[in-house]
Amino acid sequence: MDDADPWDGLAVPAGLCRYCEHPSLNRTRRGVTYMRCTRAGWDERIPRYPGLPVAECVGFEPRTGS
Ligand code: SF4
Repeated sequence: MDDADPWDGLAVPAGLCRYCEHPSLNRTRRGVTYMRCTRAGWDERIPRYPGLPVAECVGFEPRTGS
């Protein structure tokens, strides 16, 4: 269903990442949803694919907007 919340497609809850500016959700053609941290591209403290759920993160920035 296209209007489903994409976060619900993750196998485990994302934790802090869900409320952060930096996650990128992707869904494979096989229907598997995974989350990548875009901040990891320039912040070497953070893994590109953090273990979920994330409880604490040095790069967390609250998401703004809707
Ligand atoms: S910066 Fe941290 S909290 Fe934000 S998306 Fe990346 S791993 Fe998650």
